[in-house]
Amino acid sequence: MAGENEGPAIGIDLGTTYSCVAVWQKDRAVIIPNEQGNRITSSYVSFTETERLVGDAAMDIVALNPANTVFDTKRLIGRRFSDPLVQSDKKLWPFKVICGANDKPMISVNYKGEEKLFAAEQISSMVLAKMKEIAEAFLGCNVKNAVITVPAYFNDSQRRATKDAGTLSGLNVLRIIAEPTAAAIAYGLDKMSSGSEEKNVLIFDLGGGTFDVSLLTMVKSTSKVKSTAGDTHLGGEDFDNRVVNYLVQAFETRHKKDIRDNPRALRRLWTAWERAKRNLSFMAQTNIGMDCLYQGIDFEYKLTREKFEELNLELFEKCIGHVEKCLKDGKMDKKSVHDVVLVGGSTRIPKVQQLLQDFFNGKQLCKSIHPDEAVAYGAAVQAAILTGQDNHEIRDLIWWDVTPLSLGISVNENEMRVVVPKNTTIPTKKEDAAFTNPDHKTGITFMVYEGERPRASDNIQLGEFVLSGIPSALRGVLKFNVCFEIDANGILTVSAEDKTSGKTNSITISNVKGMLSSKDEIERMLEEAERFELEDSEHKKSFNARKALEKYVYGTRNIVVTKVQAGNLEDEIKKAIKWLEEHRDGESEVFENKTKELKSFWDPILKNF
Ligand code: AMP
Repeated sequence: MAGENEGPAIGIDLGTTYSCVAVWQKDRAVIIPNEQGNRITSSYVSFTETERLVGDAAMDIVALNPANTVFDTKRLIGRRFSDPLVQSDKKLWPFKVICGANDKPMISVNYKGEEKLFAAEQISSMVLAKMKEIAEAFLGCNVKNAVITVPAYFNDSQRRATKDAGTLSGLNVLRIIAEPTAAAIAYGLDKMSSGSEEKNVLIFDLGGGTFDVSLLTMVKSTSKVKSTAGDTHLGGEDFDNRVVNYLVQAFETRHKKDIRDNPRALRRLWTAWERAKRNLSFMAQTNIGMDCLYQGIDFEYKLTREKFEELNLELFEKCIGHVEKCLKDGKMDKKSVHDVVLVGGSTRIPKVQQLLQDFFNGKQLCKSIHPDEAVAYGAAVQAAILTGQDNHEIRDLIWWDVTPLSLGISVNENEMRVVVPKNTTIPTKKEDAAFTNPDHKTGITFMVYEGERPRASDNIQLGEFVLSGIPSALRGVLKFNVCFEIDANGILTVSAEDKTSGKTNSITISNVKGMLSSKDEIERMLEEAERFELEDSEHKKSFNARKALEKYVYGTRNIVVTKVQAGNLEDEIKKAIKWLEEHRDGESEVFENKTKELKSFWDPILKNF
């Protein structure tokens, strides 16, 4: 609950290109305009000789100061420098990104005559501080608490870094919520307030940098994300890049000059085109005109909507492919979708709307929520609920996200033991008490994985931790409880406890080697799981057969060690343990046959104990 002096809680949509802030007032969410009267604010920060500009003022001088104007930090946040996405994005940015300590990308700019390095969180925190300031000017009081949105596929490290950015900006981040969930809240308030029948809603969110499609099932009081799909690099900027390349070529053909080596000219062309593009959403043709674009040469070009569509058709069609995939993953026929909701500035593109409408056999698309504002609107509603500033109508709303892949653990063998199955609603807490120790080990390594494959090594390793100082004991004697807890922000903490000694250790997954997978990785892993289904079911059978044999051998050993007269059974057990160590992999029959063989010999002896 918000403190008395903390003012109203706000909702912030921290976007790749634009951000938006809203607040709950008099039973509705209100979008807050910035000092220029704009309801969305550019997510840009510009460093100059004398000052630092944030928001629209920074975007306005991007062409004058391209190397020191930073944008797109949402693409960098929580990622490693060596991430292939960072490597490819880096080539497109006019500002410099270098590799910092621990593979962290650092943005290098010249500020007040000195080279300065900033992490993505720091730049995002400046944008968030600007949004806080906009809200404070509008409300006339301090603002402390906020809900911030992130894409549904953002991994733990990206969510954590976004939260850190919020803290750096002086905000208390009440919760990080997924953008489609926030959009669904806005849609839900608009459409679901009357009636209680279940609705399947597809949120189609095509913004500046990313494309997200989410399938939700909604009833009056609840909403559940059934499936998500999309692309981390598909949006307005990609459409713009294609057109800018085309315009650069047109300039080259006309004037035999290549402007690619001039970042300022390129940025000016990019900005002029981005503005002109908006006209193409309601006009058949637009004009891009600039004085002295390059070496004193003016540039003017008329671009038709048809040409724009031709240059980008492949990308538009890619969006529809993701919609198909989202429905397939959610096991839903397109006829069962009640509403297709448009979110994100690029959904204004008529061709995108037409392709989507055709895909849904002519269905009317839902345009009643504002594509640029819905996410901030939903975040403001969530903020009001969390601080008790809402009314009863929205108090009923509970919004759920799901885990896109299964989460599990591997201890000794290469087996992935699923603790949190795929599509589990979060927040969640799940425990598994079936882990045992190897012989006389006083420290056990727990490895955390994400993925659908039964062999841990085929999945993504998120991290590992050691539970040390446990008593030395025979295998199978100690029991460990493993607990996976995912909080409402999607941050995962894994802990293990030795039930006998009470020793515990845990890990909160952050910027470790494997990291929670990106959307592309999620898709690759789901596709692999499908492709290797047969092979995987054999691995599963084999793991189970080996485990049954292990249980039998060690179980017998633990009985036999307590007996004085175990005869030659003791030697036989040693041989069986050695055999197990030499046969870590194998077909299930090999282990089943071995179990049968040992049982036929050992069971009659065990009966006499
Ligand atoms: P968002 O990330 O949702 O703020 O969307 C920003 C993207 O929407 C940018 O790439 C804009 O160029 C694009 N956009 C905004 N308005 C329009 C429009 N009328 N037609 C086409 N694209 C637009």
